[in-house]
Parts: sequence; C-alpha cells; structure tokens
Amino acid sequence: MRLDRSSDMLTRAQRTIPGGVNSPVRAFKSVGGTPVFINRAQGSSVWDLDGNRYIDFVGTWGPAILGHAEPSVVEAIQKAAERGSSFGAPTELEVKLAEHVCNRVPSVDRLRLTSSGTEAAMSAIRLARAATRRDGILKFEGCYHGHADYLLVRAGSGVATFGLPDSPGVPADFAKHTHTAPYNDLDGVERILKQNGDDIAVVAVEPVTGNMGVIPPQPGFLEGLRELTRKYGALLMFDEVMTGFRVHPAGAQGLYGVEPDITAFGKVIGGGMPMAGFGGKAEVMDMLAPLGPVYQAGTLSGNPCAVAAGLRTLEALATQSPYDQLEATGARLQAGLEAALTECGIPGRVQRVGSMATLFFCDHEVKNFEDVRKADHDRFAKYFHLMLERGIYLPPSGYEASFLSLAHSDEDIDRTIESAKDALRTLAKA
Ligand code: PLP
Repeated sequence: MRLDRSSDMLTRAQRTIPGGVNSPVRAFKSVGGTPVFINRAQGSSVWDLDGNRYIDFVGTWGPAILGHAEPSVVEAIQKAAERGSSFGAPTELEVKLAEHVCNRVPSVDRLRLTSSGTEAAMSAIRLARAATRRDGILKFEGCYHGHADYLLVRAGSGVATFGLPDSPGVPADFAKHTHTAPYNDLDGVERILKQNGDDIAVVAVEPVTGNMGVIPPQPGFLEGLRELTRKYGALLMFDEVMTGFRVHPAGAQGLYGVEPDITAFGKVIGGGMPMAGFGGKAEVMDMLAPLGPVYQAGTLSGNPCAVAAGLRTLEALATQSPYDQLEATGARLQAGLEAALTECGIPGRVQRVGSMATLFFCDHEVKNFEDVRKADHDRFAKYFHLMLERGIYLPPSGYEASFLSLAHSDEDIDRTIESAKDALRTLAKA
C-alpha cells in the first residue's frame, strides 16, 4: 500500500500545524508510521489521499453512527446552511432538539448546547460546583472528560498514549481539587468520599469507558456511585459524550437503569458536526445564566447546521431497531475476532458494549486503567499496521474504542475478521 501523498502532506502540514495534526492521537505517535490523510468518506468507508479505501472503525471517534455522509444528514445540513449558517440568536430547531433529548432521556429536563464535549463536561462541572457550593471533583483513572485544566489528571487515551501523567501548563493549584480513584472500585470511591465528603461537588464517570478502551461497569458499580453520591451530598455526572445515544436510545443511563444528576453529551448528538451539550434536572440546570448566576456561553452554541445534523441523526435512532442492528453487528465482529485469536494462539480479549469495542492483547479481564496498561501495546501497534495494510482503519492506539455504525454491513465485518485472522497469523509467526 502506498501512502506517498499522505506522507508528503504530513511534511507540508508539519510546517504550519503543530505535529501536522489538529488533535494529537491523529498523528499515529503510539503506533508509529505515517498518519493517513483522509480525502473523503461514505458509509462505512474512508479513502485517503492516495486513493486507498479502508473499512473505518474510527467513525470520527464516535459521531458517525449512521455511517459517513449519510444522505439525509447531508441534506439537513445543506438545507440549514442555505438559510444561514449561524445567527447567534435562538432558533426553532434548537427547541426541537432539546425537546427530543428531554423526551428521550428521563434524567434530563433541560439541555444546554455547546460546541464540544470538552465545553459540555467543563460547564456541567461548573454547575455541579455551584449547586453544591463545593470545589472537589472525583474522577476515575483513565477516564477522559475533555481537556479543561483540572480534568487533565489521569485522563486516559490521548494523555496515556503520550505518557503524560499530567499536561505541563496545568497549574498544580488547578488540579488540586481533582481526586482520582480506579475505575470499577467502589471501595476506593468511598474512601475518598469519607475523607473529603463535604468537599466533593461531583463524581464524574464515563459509564462505559472508551478513553482507555472499552471497559463496561462491573455489576453494581454505577448503582454504587448513585448511592454513595447521595450519601455524601455530591452530584453524579455521567459523561455520555461517547455513550450517549450510542449504546441505547437513552444512552448508558438507559442501558444500566441508573439516573445521574447531570449528563454531558457529545459526538452522536452533533451528527458529525461540532456540537455537544449537557443536561439534568430543572432545579440544577436553571442555575445557569440567564436564569441563575452560573455563567456559560458560546458564539456558535446551537449552531443551526450542527443542530440540523444532530436532530436528523437522533431521529434516525429513535427506536430500538437500529440498536438491535448495532448489537448484531458488534456481536458478529466480537465472535469473529475471538475465534481468530484462538485459532492463532494469541492471547487477547475483546471487550464490547453494543457498537463500541476494543481488542486488548492480554489474557486478563480489563476492569481498570492498570489492567489496560498491562496489555501488550507493542503488539497492538504491529496489529494496527497489519490491519491498515489490509484496508482496515482502526483507532491508532491500544487505549481507544473502535466504533461501529449502521453502515457496517455483514460483508464489511466478515472482511474485517478475515483481515484480522491474516494479521494475527502474521503476528503469531513474528
Ligand atoms: N468526554 C468524553 C467521554 C470523550 O470521549 C470526549 C472526547 O473524546 C470528551 C469528553 C471531549 O469531547 P471533545 O473532543 O468534543 O471536546
């Protein structure tokens, strides 16, 4: 496979863009090699500048749940753009989107839109701090909630990929209110709450992790967080930027039947456009300006093109049937990969919730960040390139989730499994 044009473009990009990319994981640093510059995408496929076609499991890191350039989404964006791409004033479409989300997610009475998941999580946390009049946050090692200063503590994939425990530029004073516990460890959470209970405003969690690869919550973990936060007077925030509208019509909270106080949304809610949001019960959300004193704003918040794409995407996901299809596609992929691992005698574990999946090269169950670290990431890097050469575009880090879409056909999955078999056989011989 030739990557000449991508390679030339990387050289050119590096002159004007730091590292040649606008988000670090795109640089392939943890797997090595030349990042693929994408030229176009359709359905389950992406094409690079050299004309190579790949079956895509990055799915723009989650949003592309209907597949790329889904015609009705494209049409919705075109129609919105023709009427004006931004007004900085309220629109009917935003109201429709908020009504849709509030009807669909029982814990959400009110929704405020932002332009990125980072803003959504950061604003939700500001609100939680204001509502509880406390400063502390409890998050989990390996969970990522965007790149706000005080959240860049043990923050999963991007940061873990680069081996930066904390980013330089984050003053210790900003990070000092952030406590961390291992994922799936309720005793660890209770210990921190016991010691700092009257200072913790919010426990923030990815209800299924994607930012250290896919780790489902152990039975009772989310329920336990719900009980403990009530006991210690903290709010519970589900960061559903990845899981929202992906793992269930009402997100992970619908799948596991646990209601958080506040939820951050992103990715799917924007249908591939820059949009995210956060929501919760009226008494908390109504503390936001202009009703209340908590400031939060955005020039492009509720951008009409993004809202049109998001609303169309959510409408296409309004019933259980697309989720049944995603589950069937995910199960087919998982079964095929597991059979391939066994056949090739390579220790590996496929962890999956619906259409999010990660293959960890290890033989232990992966329940937290330490378990992820112990997986064989050098082997992942080799596997990644063997798959890329076979036309399969995986997330370029062993700390990430692969995303399936409704556009992935059984043929796509079967081709992926055949490629995996071939790649794993090569690895077994190496
Ligand atoms: N929260 C979670 C769970 C995420 O996965 C991400 C991004 O991957 C974010 C927050 C930040 O979202 P964004 O990249 O849109 O700022």
